[in-house]
Amino acid sequence: MGENKNPKKHFPWELEQMQSCPLSIKERMSERRIMDWYSEFTDVYVSFSGGKDSTVLSDMVARVCQSFHYKMVVVFSDTGLEYPEIRKFVPQYVEFLKKKYSIEIELVVVKPEMTFKKVIETVGYPIGSKKIARMIYDCKHPTEKNQATRTLYMTGVKRDGSISKAFKLSQRWMKMIDSKFEVSDKCCDIMKKEPTKRFEKETGMKSIVGTMACESNSRKETWLQYGCNAYDSRRPQSKPMSFWTEQDVLEYILKYDLPFASVYGSIIGIDKEKTYTTEQVREMAKTNDGVQRNIKLQTTGCQRTGCMFCMFGCHLEKQPNRFQKMKETHPAVYNYCMKPVEEGGLGLDEIMTFMDIPH
Ligand code: SF4
Repeated sequence: MGENKNPKKHFPWELEQMQSCPLSIKERMSERRIMDWYSEFTDVYVSFSGGKDSTVLSDMVARVCQSFHYKMVVVFSDTGLEYPEIRKFVPQYVEFLKKKYSIEIELVVVKPEMTFKKVIETVGYPIGSKKIARMIYDCKHPTEKNQATRTLYMTGVKRDGSISKAFKLSQRWMKMIDSKFEVSDKCCDIMKKEPTKRFEKETGMKSIVGTMACESNSRKETWLQYGCNAYDSRRPQSKPMSFWTEQDVLEYILKYDLPFASVYGSIIGIDKEKTYTTEQVREMAKTNDGVQRNIKLQTTGCQRTGCMFCMFGCHLEKQPNRFQKMKETHPAVYNYCMKPVEEGGLGLDEIMTFMDIPH
């Protein structure tokens, strides 16, 4: 039997076991991984988006840097698509960490070479999901090479004649194929990945990121393949919070009184019977037992703080969805997003109306 050259590092049950650990254990496991990463690579940076996950990550890394007298490097990828509150919070939080841990921190801001407007004009809109956008792009751009793939996306029939529902474009999105709208999955590569890859190439630094396996299937698969510290992947990366959940992130923020971007609102707790105030859940977080498991922590404002103009996933959101909320909270940005391209806007109204997405 041939040797499996790339066996998976972990089993799904290991992830479940780690995910079920109390926060205090998770903190220790994450710090261990951060220390290991610094021991392996001399030049390390923390990827900080200003979101709550990387807010927690940066705090843990700063604690490690304090213990070992390391200088901390924080990289913020300024896509120009972040909430204004996030952009304001990033330098403020770096200052907070400097004071809290009395360490040297360098904040590096990297930027994409294209604006979002240029991205939608040249490669297309990010709508649906990465996978849906990729399927629509391929179906709209037939080549000799992608014929079998297009057949698969449009009919679900594979080369061998078997049926794959997972790779058939759902009926809802079919009309996009013959529409005038360009759709593509390339936006993230251009706006987010390229600037950080360029930074890594120029500096040789290796990143620590705050992504978690519970966020998507592909993140879970990557963890099963490489674990938290992917020393031997093509692009070595440390993801020491892989086994955390959103609940852990919110509990950590409460436990350590961390500031976080105002766009999230405040943190409250909810169980079947009642709502707990920030003060009540903070008190629980500071006890040895932490927040009771039956209480779900949540933020009262935005649930996600990624790119403001991104349409990925918004067709699945409950109303008010992110654009409906934006209309209330950031009306000028909303108007810019919705305005037709010919009038200087991004033209989202036209494409979202075409796809029956409320906005
Ligand atoms: S999250 Fe959306 S808007 Fe932001 S870079 Fe990725 S595809 Fe583009």
